Amino acid sequence: MNYDEGQGWHDPRIVPYGPIEMDPSAMCLHYGQSVFEGMKAYRAQDGRILLFRPDKNMARLNVSNDRLCIPPIDEELAKAAIEKLVSVEKDWVPSEEGTSLYIRPFIIGVDPHIGVHPAHHLLFMVICCPVGAYYPEGLDPVKIYVETNYVRAVRGGMGFTKTAGNYAASLKAQDEAEKQDYTQVLWLDGVERKYIEEVGTMNVFFVIDDEVVTPALQGSILSGITRMSCIEMLKSWGMKVSERRLSIQEVADAAAEGRLKEAFGTGTAAVISPIGHLKWGDDIMEINNGEIGPLSQKLYDTLTGIQWGKIKDEFGWTVEVK
Ligand code: PMP
Repeated sequence: MNYDEGQGWHDPRIVPYGPIEMDPSAMCLHYGQSVFEGMKAYRAQDGRILLFRPDKNMARLNVSNDRLCIPPIDEELAKAAIEKLVSVEKDWVPSEEGTSLYIRPFIIGVDPHIGVHPAHHLLFMVICCPVGAYYPEGLDPVKIYVETNYVRAVRGGMGFTKTAGNYAASLKAQDEAEKQDYTQVLWLDGVERKYIEEVGTMNVFFVIDDEVVTPALQGSILSGITRMSCIEMLKSWGMKVSERRLSIQEVADAAAEGRLKEAFGTGTAAVISPIGHLKWGDDIMEINNGEIGPLSQKLYDTLTGIQWGKIKDEFGWTVEVK
């Protein structure tokens, strides 16, 4: 679908996958006017094809659009377009447990213009591809270290959006983490370097005593759809969930005192990713002896059960693609 000033969003269409033509001075290539979403379609046991909370992805896309000076999209229209594409590409939705069709809607500014201003011509595209199980051998706790050199986002910046620049800012940290055999980094706030924000591509939760704590959304972290779903599930199970400021020192103290029971990341790709090992400078925390905690397992089983149509979707989160 295109956007041209004066015309608005127009011409939604499905075309075969292939290279697109763009001017070398297209603004997205130089100034990063680019937003995206990440979502999945699942093939349920009974053959139905399910999307997970696509309305939330479309709403978040418009939050990103607003921050990046991109004209808002019609959320219903965009959702219908995605459903149509998935319906056309039904055969690409794999059926083995844990697999899915990854869907990547994105918008880029394409004005051929060397000069920094919001684009007047944009493209909204959706690509998709089948992806294998994130944990083919079953849930496996990851190793994470606390990033102390680099900053990904600050309040007033773009951390609450899904825009290319945020991931550009994280590349170096991610590369260094992988070279040291860590899966991802845990970002701290960019000002005081004290408060926990999120993991590379996941939000993060800590179980301290009987409280499940996740950093509050305060402008510099992404409002993850898996995060909000976990909070709703935990509350429905009668658990104490707090969205608040959480310092890395508080987590380290809880670990030293044996009160840190579990930690896990949440995101569309991994669903729930237990954290077994957390490094903060010289402080190494082995969480739950490096094993999967019962709450992480229960959240994973429930969420994937709903997504793969194995258990009843009491929350009304799934949308069937006809
Ligand atoms: N934070 C960041 C920076 C991410 O890239 C993602 C993945 N979209 C998340 C959190 C988790 O969000 P969601 O649960 O919507 O996938």
